[in-house]
Amino acid sequence: MNYHIGTMLIYEHFDGGSDCPVCKIKNAVDARLTESYLGEKVMEDDTRKEVNKLGFCKSHYEALFLMRSKLGLALQTRTRLTYLKKLDIDPNNVKSVKKAAVKLRESGNTCVVCKYLSEHMIRYYKTIAEVYAADEKFRERIVASDGFCLNHYSYLAEYSAYAGKKQKSYLADISEAENKRLEKLGADLDEFCMRHDYRNADKPMTGGKDALKNAKKTFYGI
Ligand SMILES: [Zn+2]
Ligand SMILES: [Zn+2]
Repeated sequence: MNYHIGTMLIYEHFDGGSDCPVCKIKNAVDARLTESYLGEKVMEDDTRKEVNKLGFCKSHYEALFLMRSKLGLALQTRTRLTYLKKLDIDPNNVKSVKKAAVKLRESGNTCVVCKYLSEHMIRYYKTIAEVYAADEKFRERIVASDGFCLNHYSYLAEYSAYAGKKQKSYLADISEAENKRLEKLGADLDEFCMRHDYRNADKPMTGGKDALKNAKKTFYGI
């Protein structure tokens, strides 16, 4: 078997909980990656160049801002600003202003953390399929699981070829788990709506109480 990455996080987060296990892996990788931009990396030339060029998206800037080292963030933000200022806007030249306007708007869409996070996650999608193919016990965890958020179900399906000869059964197992999740969510939403009719107000509620919260987790991840 050719594992693309370590499997520790995979075994740790496919733990039978109801939250999407791939979201949990992603959040762990995200936290580690984000934190590294306030560590020794800040002083490395290659990292600085890349941060200057791509910057941070709003959510990663906010995550960095909440961490201890404000100086590390300030230094990187300063050089990012210098990089953006190089656009050299001539206030009296319509073409120059228009060109800079487009580039400045696009500058908000790039993020060095998002770039590496999505590269890491693609390796996880592949490795999850490989672990499935190699480990029957892991297969049982998927069968018993509560499925995934929509985004991660779609990525697991996209990279299912990495399960090799077991691709078909891998797709069947993740799809059955996902169908189970969506059916339960549908029933919970029905119950939630039903309870908002005063005639049903005194009926006991089972899964409906958290229906909107669970819908958010399924639609957008955790
Ligand atoms: Zn997810
Ligand atoms: Zn980002």
